[in-house]
Amino acid sequence: MVSAMAWAESPAQSLLVHLSSPSLSAWGASKDDQQLGQVLILLSQTESGRDLLRRAQKAFRLPTDERSEDRSLPRLDQNTWKSVVVWDHVSRTDAVLTRHFDSTTGEELRERQVSVHLKRGQSYSDLFFDLSHELTHAVAGPNWDPYDPQLTASRYVISALEAPGGEIDAIFVECKLAFEVAGNAGALGKEWSAHGLRCSRYLSNSQMDRNKIKAEFYRVGRWYSDLASELGEEKDFLPLLSGDSPKLYSSTGGAPYPVALVREYQEINMAACANSKKRLSSVTEANRRPAGTADSGEEYSSAISDQIRGKTEAFLRLRCAAPKS
Ligand SMILES: [Zn+2]
Repeated sequence: MVSAMAWAESPAQSLLVHLSSPSLSAWGASKDDQQLGQVLILLSQTESGRDLLRRAQKAFRLPTDERSEDRSLPRLDQNTWKSVVVWDHVSRTDAVLTRHFDSTTGEELRERQVSVHLKRGQSYSDLFFDLSHELTHAVAGPNWDPYDPQLTASRYVISALEAPGGEIDAIFVECKLAFEVAGNAGALGKEWSAHGLRCSRYLSNSQMDRNKIKAEFYRVGRWYSDLASELGEEKDFLPLLSGDSPKLYSSTGGAPYPVALVREYQEINMAACANSKKRLSSVTEANRRPAGTADSGEEYSSAISDQIRGKTEAFLRLRCAAPKS
């Protein structure tokens, strides 16, 4: 599932971009909450699950469980996980990036807030695999920067799929867990062994093979020619891209991953360009006002204004050129 992203500018320009509009529900003692509690306990009983929980404890600074033998594990109760999990109509990971500019130094400060959205009303096994998939995304650091002047559609696709905590890693962890719980699968029911069966196609000599997962992600079937013409020369950076029938679809984009990711890149690019244009005009505007009359947080020395203007103009030149007709 694509790790959808949103971000806000601040303080003067708070533009929040959500790539999908979630309808959220509050936590309570719902069936989903209870099931999540069981899923967390099962995770804590597997090796890969414990590793994931430890990383989540660090990433979200969750309180640890003093009663557990392993003190690095987070507590597994509802209150602890309320700060991380949001019930939604589709499972995905959201990262909201906020930029603040220090008006005295011109330094850019960034805040990144990550939340795990889980589809409500799922079966126990689907919730288990969705949580492990999304947590794999959520505990990884950022792999790309929406304001990187060098970011392109193909670079975005590569980092979303191949970087640490990307889609390949998420499937890898899901499948490792499927094999680890396989011993209990008889007791847990058929659905669990079905997941393991789907994962068995990624095995080479009984070991999980990342290359097999990777090759599947680049199969786009009937989308191939449109995507290739959209990417132009950038297609060369994605050598595994193929017209073979797709096996993996993005749940948020409703298309094979590379297709959904290129669309997502275009939306991110539009938002980053709009934010940068606003930034440029607010710096220019603040400079025109007589000294001391600017709004708080938007008063810069001329050296700093020049610095911000220079960086923003470079970004606009590289990332925000008018589309070729
Ligand atoms: Zn995913």
